[in-house]
Amino acid sequence: MELEKMDENDWRYHGEGNRSLVVSHVQNSQVLRLLKYPMDDTTDQAFRHIQNIVDYSKNVMKPLLGEECVHHGVSTFHPRTLQGPALGLPSQFEVWRESRCDKVMDTFSGCALCLPNLTQLSACRLSKRSPQLCIEIKPKCGFLPFSQHVTQEVKRRVCRFCMHQHFKLANGKWKRMSRYCPLDLFSGNKQRMYFAIKHLLEEPQNNFKIFTSGELIYGCEDDRAKQQDLCELAQRLRPHFPSGQPPSNKALLSELIQAIVGALLGTLEPGHAGEPQRRAPAESRAYCQGSPLHPELLRNVVGSPGLPKHCILYRILQTQMLDSLDIEGVYPLYRRVEQHLEEIPKDRGRLQIDGPYNEKFLEKVVNCPSEDDGSVEYAVGKIHQYRVAMTAKDCSVLIALAPCGQDDTLEPSLEIQPSKPGFTSSVSILDLDPKPYENIAHQYKLDSKIVTLASHLYREGQ
Ligand code: ATP
Ligand code: ZN
Ligand code: MG
Ligand code: MG
Repeated sequence: MELEKMDENDWRYHGEGNRSLVVSHVQNSQVLRLLKYPMDDTTDQAFRHIQNIVDYSKNVMKPLLGEECVHHGVSTFHPRTLQGPALGLPSQFEVWRESRCDKVMDTFSGCALCLPNLTQLSACRLSKRSPQLCIEIKPKCGFLPFSQHVTQEVKRRVCRFCMHQHFKLANGKWKRMSRYCPLDLFSGNKQRMYFAIKHLLEEPQNNFKIFTSGELIYGCEDDRAKQQDLCELAQRLRPHFPSGQPPSNKALLSELIQAIVGALLGTLEPGHAGEPQRRAPAESRAYCQGSPLHPELLRNVVGSPGLPKHCILYRILQTQMLDSLDIEGVYPLYRRVEQHLEEIPKDRGRLQIDGPYNEKFLEKVVNCPSEDDGSVEYAVGKIHQYRVAMTAKDCSVLIALAPCGQDDTLEPSLEIQPSKPGFTSSVSILDLDPKPYENIAHQYKLDSKIVTLASHLYREGQ
């Protein structure tokens, strides 16, 4: 795409995460993702960094998660003038900047990642004339660690998200607890999934967003009154519902939740390599003690079939489960690699510690032996797997919903399935950046802090 020729006024603020700021084109269904790291890199380095992200999405995450739901995008140069004021950012932007972080945005390197605007595009694919409704869920880790290296017993009862909630609350990151538990969402049980999404709606934090026509209408706002929000939301969603609408706001939101559950459980097209199935051992629990759901409801579903194969959540969960050792098992391997690199620094390239993220890298991930033979290759293989799993624990699912039967321009070649009668849906996955190798030391320390706090809160036998 010839961005150089584009007018900077065509772009406006779309959203952001910890690592990037996203601007969308006012007419084309495209977004630019600008990196937020403090970048004193040269343009060359910055460009390579973006290209690494593209390669990783394309060559590593896409084969694991499925061709049809990953858009790897292209690295590109954006107009150098594309900066805060030109984007009409100052008001929203400065507020965000203050509250979010001290990170400097990558406005000067001139490099960005160009992606289709998935909050618009998927819905366009579904139905040309219908209003666009898009839900974003950041589901986080959907299983309890089953590694023998886990030392703290609480990690086998309470999931990472629920433990992390307490930690974030204690540290002032959020003012209210989320009642969402990923194990409910990934359970495959429609009732538990329903409640998981309801809890996301009630307290979205940064795990749940709603877009209409590409514009964010609902998401992270810590201060507003909940009740007010949901009524207002239901009103705004009304035009996006099929005719014969549910009479009450409550019924409307309930229908929305059911449509989301349907989309998450829908069958994706084959075409996916079909990785060997990874299963948690039978003794590992399928429910979390941090979930607010009634213990009876949770217990009843133990032994239930779980997620259907070929749905998007199943693929994400399988990829997350590449983390078979837990950070407690991975950290000693990281130390082994560090020691090796001290002795033979040039091995960093051969072992592909920082890429390149190509087919060979994927091979190392997929074919890593399960037994530790004491080698540095084993250690690196496990670390690669861990990092891939971390990416899958941090990605977002985008669900585009369109009322069906509104027009008949559905394109037959595209993968569309009925979710809940009344809506058709299309799903995709975004935010598939590689997690830096160096993060492992930080993750190890953070894990210990989170778990220490949780083990006080959830004493055994409680
Ligand atoms: P995190 O803090 O979750 O790691 P991040 O900094 O890596 O986030 P992204 O999650 O990729 O950044 O992007 C931030 C937000 O921008 C997303 O949550 C999503 O709402 C929006 N966004 C990103 N990519 C796209 C896209 N291709 N189409 C539409 N919206 C997008
Ligand atoms: Zn939980
Ligand atoms: Mg994200
Ligand atoms: Mg990210």
